[in-house]
Amino acid sequence: MKHAGGVRTDGEIMPTEFRNEPLTDFTKPENEAAMRAAIEKVAGQLGQEYPLVIGGERIKTGDNLETINPANRTQVVAKFHKATKDLANRAVEAAAEAFKTWRNRPADERAQLLFRVAELMRARKHELSAWMIHEVAKTWPEADGDTAEAIDFCEFYAREMLRYASEQPLVKLQGEANRLEYIPLGVGAVIPPWNFPLAIMAGMTGAAIVTGNTVVLKPSSDAPTIAYKFFELLEEAGMPPGVVNFMTGSGAEVGDVIVDHPKTRFIAFTGSKEIGLRINERAAKTPDGQLWIKRVVAEMGGKDAIIVADDADLDEAATGVVQSAFGFQGQKCSACSRAIIDARVYDPMIEKIAARTARIKVGAPTDNATTMSAVINEKAFKAINSYVEKGKAEGGRVVAGGGSDGEQGFFIEPTVIADVKPGDTIEQEEIFGPVLAVIKANDYDDALRIANDTQFGLTGAVYSTDEVKLDRARNEFHVGNLYLNRKCTGAMVGVHPFGGFNMSGTDSKAGGREYLLLFMQAKLSSEKVGATRKRAEAGIAI
Ligand code: NAD
Repeated sequence: MKHAGGVRTDGEIMPTEFRNEPLTDFTKPENEAAMRAAIEKVAGQLGQEYPLVIGGERIKTGDNLETINPANRTQVVAKFHKATKDLANRAVEAAAEAFKTWRNRPADERAQLLFRVAELMRARKHELSAWMIHEVAKTWPEADGDTAEAIDFCEFYAREMLRYASEQPLVKLQGEANRLEYIPLGVGAVIPPWNFPLAIMAGMTGAAIVTGNTVVLKPSSDAPTIAYKFFELLEEAGMPPGVVNFMTGSGAEVGDVIVDHPKTRFIAFTGSKEIGLRINERAAKTPDGQLWIKRVVAEMGGKDAIIVADDADLDEAATGVVQSAFGFQGQKCSACSRAIIDARVYDPMIEKIAARTARIKVGAPTDNATTMSAVINEKAFKAINSYVEKGKAEGGRVVAGGGSDGEQGFFIEPTVIADVKPGDTIEQEEIFGPVLAVIKANDYDDALRIANDTQFGLTGAVYSTDEVKLDRARNEFHVGNLYLNRKCTGAMVGVHPFGGFNMSGTDSKAGGREYLLLFMQAKLSSEKVGATRKRAEAGIAI
C-alpha cells in the first residue's frame, strides 16, 4: 500500500499532506498471514539481550532486568541491563555533547530523519506489532493501532517542524527586518509508560529530537524491547550518536538522576499521576550550575466517564462503553472506567453492557480471535483484583466478570460493577484495568455533576440524541478530549489532539499543532535595515 507520507525524489522525502496511517484489516487472509509470520519471527527472537546505548557506545552492566510475556509469565521476552547512577549521569553528558551539533542541523534534515523512520516502521509494521503482542499482551488490532499511531507521530511532527521552521508571521515595521525563530531547549529526559510503548515513546522522542533537542530515553521496565527496536530504527535512519541515549533501569533510581541533573533542560513524561507529580516537584529544584527553570511536560492518569442520557441510542451507547472500557484490558489513560447512566435507562443499559461484555474473548494475544488478553504484570494483577473486592465491599453489584486467573498469565475477566455510588473508591481512583463502574444518575444535571467530580480531566463522552444536551457537555464537561455519541478512546494524530486537564497533566496536546512548541523556545532578532555592508561587499559568500 502506498503510504500517506512523502514521496522520494533523489533520496529526499517530500512531504505530502498528512494522512493517518490506515489500520490493518485482519479479516483479509493476506494480512492475517503476514501477521502470523511476524509473530513467528519474533517468537524466534525472544530471550535475547540488549545493551544500554550512551553516546553511541553499547554498554552492559551485568545487572539484568528481564521482561516477560504477561500472558505467559514463564516466557522471557528480553534481557536488559540496569543502568547505574553513574551511567545515568553519563547519558545526560552524552546528550549535552551531541546537542552542540544537533541543534544546528537544519530543521529539514531533522524532519527527514523522522520521515525515514516512519518509512522503516511502515515496512516492518507487523514485526513491531508482534513485539508488543509478546511484551505487553496487546491483541492484534490494539498492537496494529499502536504501530500506526507511532508512524503518524513521526509523519506529523516532521511536517510540523517544517511549518515552525518556515517564516513566522510578525507585524511589519518599516526600517527593520524582524525574524522569529524557534530554537531547541537542550537535553531532555524522555520517560514513557508501557501502555502505548511504541506510539507514546516514539511520539515524545520524535517531537524532542525533530525540534533539535537531544535526549536520554528511559523506557518503562515493562516494555523496553519495543523501545530498543525503535532506537535501532533511528540509528538505521542515520541519527548521529548521542542524539538519543537509550537507558534502561529502575525508574526510581536512574529516573531521579536524569530528572535532577543540572544539564537536563526539560522532562517529557507520560505515566501515573504519582510519578508525574514527583517529577514535577523534583524538577522545580534548581541545583548549583543549573541555568534554567526546567520545563515539565507531564501527561498523567484519568478517570474517564461516559454519560448515557435518557434519550440516547442505547445499543450504540452500550457498544461504545464496552469498547472504551475493555480495549487493551482497560489499560488506556482514555479508558472508560465510569458509565454514568440516567436512572430512566439504567436497567436496560446494564443488561446491554453485561451482554456485550460477556461476548469478549479473553485469551492469548498471539491468537487473532482474542479480543482481550492479560494485564501487564503481577503488581497490576493484584491491584486490579483488590479494586474489584473493594467495589464489592462498598456495595457494588458484579453484573459481568469478577474472576481472574494468574496461573499462566495475568488474566482478569472484563468486569462490570453496577450500583457504584458517587465518591466510592472505584468511582474515584484510577484502576487501569478491565473494571467498569456503573453509576446511576437522577437526571442529566446529576450525570454531569458526577462526571466532573474527579481530580482528573482526560477524556469523556456523552451519548444523547438531544443537541441541547450535547452543547451543555461541550460547555460543562471539563475534559481535554470530549467525544459525543462515540467511544472515548481511539484518538487519532492530527484529528483528535490528545491531553487532559487538572491531574491528568500539563494540558499539552499530543498529535496537535501546539505540541512541538513545548520542546522549543522562540528567539526574535530585529535588524535595523541599511546599517550593514551588504554580504557580497563584505566578502562573504552568498
Ligand atoms: P508509571 O508512572 O508507573 O511509569 C511511567 C514511567 O515513569 C516509566 O517509564 C517508569 O519507569 C518511570 N518512573 C517510575 N518512577 C520514576 C521516577 N522516580 N523518576 C522518573 N521516572 C520514573 O506509569 P505506567 O504504569 O508506566 O503507565 C500507566 C499510567 O500512565 C496510567 O496512570 C495512565 O493513565 C498514564 N497514561 C497517561 C497518558 C496520557 O496521555 N495522559 C497516556 C498513557 C498512559
